[in-house]
Amino acid sequence: MLFSILTLFPDAVESYLDVGVLGIARTRGLVQTRVVDLRDFSRDRHRTVDDRPFGGGPGMVLKPEPIVEAVEWLEARHGEHRRIALTPDGTTLTQGFVESLASPPASSEEHEDVKPILLLCGRYEGFDERALELLQFERLSIGDYVLAGGELGALVLIEAAARLVPGVLGDDRSAVEDSYTTANGGALDHPHFTRPRVFRGRSVPDVLLGGDHGAIDQWRLEESQKRTQRKRAQQEGSQPTNNQDA
Ligand code: SAM
Repeated sequence: MLFSILTLFPDAVESYLDVGVLGIARTRGLVQTRVVDLRDFSRDRHRTVDDRPFGGGPGMVLKPEPIVEAVEWLEARHGEHRRIALTPDGTTLTQGFVESLASPPASSEEHEDVKPILLLCGRYEGFDERALELLQFERLSIGDYVLAGGELGALVLIEAAARLVPGVLGDDRSAVEDSYTTANGGALDHPHFTRPRVFRGRSVPDVLLGGDHGAIDQWRLEESQKRTQRKRAQQEGSQPTNNQDA
């Protein structure tokens, strides 16, 4: 899986790519990343990439030339990419979308058929619309709120996809059993406990200590269902969840 990231903050992106699961995935060659500084495609010595908005109003807008030229440069060297712009008006990221990136359909299993993914990170008021239109970018949001830039969104997507690549996690079952996995109907994970058995007066549920794996599986399934139903009900009311069973 190969990601190219176009950003005004390459150092910040690079440093997160070295952390944890992503660092492991890259070291093992299971995920490759290429970070490109949008300012390298500026046309002036001040490395300007933004300008004032036509029509007035606050903030600055990312100019189309550096974006289009950076994409053309990247694709001339590394082939055509699937182009995705991080933007609040995009389709909201889901686990299903992440899974489709990590496991392309059987018809495109041939490595050469799977395009690398280009992630364009905005800043300021966002992109000059023409850049996204000309290059037919897909638009992706990571949620209904506004960040200062697209870098976190790009990293969210890469990390979510990388952990689904076989060999990245210590135990590949983790990814299959985790929350939102479409094979499990998008259900949430059950609660987890580790030592000590009692912490500040709270005990680990007895069923997890008894060694009856049938009973443990049943308990986990029921807890997963409870969490899933609770969260879905809260989403309908658009309220934040808490983790209390009460
Ligand atoms: N003027 C824009 C608006 O109101 O929709 C907000 C621009 S935001 C301050 C700057 C950049 O952050 C965007 O171009 C985008 O790349 C990124 N960004 C902000 N919120 C995002 C979100 N929810 N999902 C994905 N990217 C986001």
